[in-house]
Amino acid sequence: MNHVPELFGSMVFNDKVMKARLPKEVYRSLKNTIQRGAPLDPSVADVVAACMKDWAVSKGATHFTHWFQPMTGITAEKHDSFINPCGDGSVIMDFSGKELVKGEPDASSFPSGGLRATFEARGYTAWDPTSYAFIKDDTLCIPTAFCSYNGQVLDKKTPLLRSMDAISKQAVRVLALFGKNVQRVNATIGPEQEYFLINKEDYARRPDLILTGRTLVGAPAPKGQELEDHYFGSLRPRVKAFMADLDEELWKLGILAKTEHNEVAPCQHEMAPIFATANISTDANQLTMEVMKKVADRHGFACLLHEKPFEGVNGSGKHNNWSLSTDGGENLLDPGTTPAENTQFLLFLTAVIKAVDDYQDLLRISVASAGNDHRLGANEAPPAIVSMYVGDELQAVIECLVEGKPCQPNAPTVLDTGAVVLPNLPKDTSDRNRTSPFAFTGNKFEFRMPGSSFNIACTNVMLNTAVAESLRQFADVLEQADDLPRALLELVRSELTAHQRILFNGNGYSQEWEAEAARRGLSNFRTTPEALVHYTDSKNVELFARHGVYTQDEIQSRQDILLDEYAKAIRIEALTLLDLVRCRISPACVNYATGLAQGVSTKKQLGIEVPQEETLARHISSLTGQLIQAADQLEGRLADPVAEDASVAASWCAQTLIPAMDEVRTPADRLEQLVDRFVWPLPTYSDMLFYV
Ligand code: ADP
Ligand code: MG
Repeated sequence: MNHVPELFGSMVFNDKVMKARLPKEVYRSLKNTIQRGAPLDPSVADVVAACMKDWAVSKGATHFTHWFQPMTGITAEKHDSFINPCGDGSVIMDFSGKELVKGEPDASSFPSGGLRATFEARGYTAWDPTSYAFIKDDTLCIPTAFCSYNGQVLDKKTPLLRSMDAISKQAVRVLALFGKNVQRVNATIGPEQEYFLINKEDYARRPDLILTGRTLVGAPAPKGQELEDHYFGSLRPRVKAFMADLDEELWKLGILAKTEHNEVAPCQHEMAPIFATANISTDANQLTMEVMKKVADRHGFACLLHEKPFEGVNGSGKHNNWSLSTDGGENLLDPGTTPAENTQFLLFLTAVIKAVDDYQDLLRISVASAGNDHRLGANEAPPAIVSMYVGDELQAVIECLVEGKPCQPNAPTVLDTGAVVLPNLPKDTSDRNRTSPFAFTGNKFEFRMPGSSFNIACTNVMLNTAVAESLRQFADVLEQADDLPRALLELVRSELTAHQRILFNGNGYSQEWEAEAARRGLSNFRTTPEALVHYTDSKNVELFARHGVYTQDEIQSRQDILLDEYAKAIRIEALTLLDLVRCRISPACVNYATGLAQGVSTKKQLGIEVPQEETLARHISSLTGQLIQAADQLEGRLADPVAEDASVAASWCAQTLIPAMDEVRTPADRLEQLVDRFVWPLPTYSDMLFYV
């Protein structure tokens, strides 16, 4: 493919297109909004809309939609065509500034967590000019924020934009102390996306995958990932063709798909894009997930984005690489080479360390879901405990600073000015700890807890706001200081001392770490309901209110929605499992055992002794009995009254329904290993994972 540069962004109304097509004044005004977050001049909207429409029509688009991210976690669209009647029976293609800037989808069908009473079901979508419009399936998609009649957020995008403003404001204050005149600081994100590809035919025969995203039964395949022969292994031709096609589709949408490779588990792969500002990356990742599914289908695959599609096999995550960048392109987490930049770096580093420690609970909450609970704490994923890894060099720097010790040759020297000289930090030396949930990787942090199916907005809302709060506190102190370099060093020292407990360079997967983390007072919320109840803790409500990211009502509504979503996900799993067992697995087992028993009886009549076959028939019948009994019990639990309180209902699912489902799975998986493969009603792990 040698036409990539022409292909790239060909379906995006990006800067290049705007510059070429918009009148100069309009372009400048829009650009000011995009770069500085300045309010949009209404007169500009009409011109932009007309221009966008002409461009879209020239690319074959017939419809437009406000493209938004409601609390369901997936993106929503309502398509309208451009046509407008002329009165003479003909139509023109039309699109006004009003239609561009604002939409009014009925909000009543989206989760609102009580924010939207039905009598005011109206919701508004508002154009987010900071993320480019694009064409998908002959439709011009306009990225928008979604809010209620009263302006309360109903989506994942609005709080992200608010948190970006919050962190920018505080980072700009801090940079001013270093004599830097910066207007805007942006959070930058590079989300690495993991996924599975299995054959479409197998997928179609697994109702559990279709309805819940994961296999609810399934015995381990004879071969797992123990040979470690898949990670970075050579790509099979069908997978390679899929990836090439995926890259091409993403490039058209201006998504910087960069790296494609195999992951640890069989059939597991990863796509990493080049990073972009948080809101653009979030939009791009939402689109990426959608495009992956479509392209997979074209290649005879089903793309699985669930965090744990297969038990006993690695799950899928989304590594959220995060940093801060000024409007001039300076990466604030780059240690740099000169002392002044080092101190600035140390201050930002300290801000992140403090933020992660102070708001561990929020970070955990941002990755909490029924799906991700299977992954966090399992052997491939970081545990449910949030801790940070900064690499040996930085750890040494931090220890010197904290202890005020004379420095080693390779560790920092504190100059008279109070500035700190850091050793060079080669990227690869800081990235050794793969078990850390939050690792410094040379010039950015990598948060590894988000699940593969997540919208990354929430994680970055938490991260941006928490770091904004550290920076706010730092700026408040330092702006008052008489001797800035001294005050700065003292601040860094005292904050690092206070937050050292969050730093952990050992094996995050070990039992000892759980005990050690408990000693350090770090939180460890093993399940989603345990984590979510802390969303509304007063310290969190204060944080979000102070930075204008969420009102108390908005947080409350999010907590309710997420708890409800969790409980629904588990109930759907339980119902699906029940259906699988009742209507597929147990009939197959009953029939199989009956056949065996009939064979045994016939043989006996003929005087043929088959004690082993008889034992097998008994064993299968007995396991089938256990299976049916466990299913009856699960059904009983499902009929229990549901608690009114969302948190009680969610905890009940975690504590009662999940164990009842496990009781069903055990005999089902044992039976799978005993029953004739040709009568087993579902594709097995072996079928799904090794025949792509
Ligand atoms: P790895 O060693 O984890 O494979 P890379 O260095 O290639 O990774 O980066 C992984 C991801 O981090 C990519 O998506 C990349 O674009 C992103 N990334 C790199 N620099 C930054 C940054 N300054 N801010 C945010 N993300 C970044
Ligand atoms: Mg990575």
